Amino acid sequence: MPQNRDPQSRDARREHSFSLEPAALAPGLHVVATPIGNLSDVTLRALQVLASADLVLCEDTRVTRRLIERYGLKPALLAYHDHNAAAVRPRVLARLGEGAAVALVSDAGTPLISDPGYKLVEAAIAAGHRVYPVPGPSAALAALVAAGLPTDRFLFEGFLPVKAGQRRTRIGEIASVPATLVLYESGPRLTRSLADLAAGLGARPAAVCRELTKLYEEIRRGSLAELSAHYAKAGPPKGEIVIVIGPPDADAPAASFEELDRRLEVALAKLSLKDAAAAIAAETGLPRREVYRRALALAGARGSKE
Ligand code: SAM
Repeated sequence: MPQNRDPQSRDARREHSFSLEPAALAPGLHVVATPIGNLSDVTLRALQVLASADLVLCEDTRVTRRLIERYGLKPALLAYHDHNAAAVRPRVLARLGEGAAVALVSDAGTPLISDPGYKLVEAAIAAGHRVYPVPGPSAALAALVAAGLPTDRFLFEGFLPVKAGQRRTRIGEIASVPATLVLYESGPRLTRSLADLAAGLGARPAAVCRELTKLYEEIRRGSLAELSAHYAKAGPPKGEIVIVIGPPDADAPAASFEELDRRLEVALAKLSLKDAAAAIAAETGLPRREVYRRALALAGARGSKE
């Protein structure tokens, strides 16, 4: 057989022939972080644990299989996700009771961080089992360190509620937290969330961190109003997103939905809806379309009271 002299293909073979031998692993639950995109972002310890665990719990076995096959590992996989967790948890606890070493991974990043696993960790501790963190990637920290915003204090807020009313209430709750905010978001919901964040948090610096560690990684920085206006024009981006928002400026007047409504009420008393929205959009730097939407809601509420 002719030898394959293509160096790329030799590299590829070397990559695929990489493997780790299973070794003794302490009994208990090992919470293992995995890459958020780039499969090289896995720690040696994570691979060793995955190679050696008696059982690996994963959200989607197809996703985890991609990672373990890349490194030549063949552990026993069992699906553990939001829809079967209550049924599977007793079985996992029984395995831990027999002295098994069980690993928990999610599709990407660190389990339990906007991902399943909290109840399992809680139950494992309650049953007297050891829980071992095997740290590694998480989109929240990856975004935070590249955003260029203060890192000394930050609040991880996870996903904002999908329903507009609940989302605005939540934004109101976090508006005065004196820390950088880190939020997870999806492409289709980004524009709406940014508009609400700009209205509820005011003129703060922010970064939209998209597809981190992947081919189309992009970090767009600007004020919340600028970012909101950009995506309102460009349309919803593809891929996975983290929004990082700088802390409130202690000297700046607090922005809030109430403040936006107050300004709009004053403007609506003397201007048409369209002109009022345009004036307040210019005054606050918020996207005109979003201010118009709010003005419309206020005018509607006012009309129904009259
Ligand atoms: N447990 C994961 C972690 O530690 O990052 C997060 C899981 S959560 C279900 C998925 C969300 O994380 C996505 O909607 C997105 O907001 C964020 N995310 C995950 N991977 C990302 C990436 N490569 N770039 C940007 N955001 C990402």
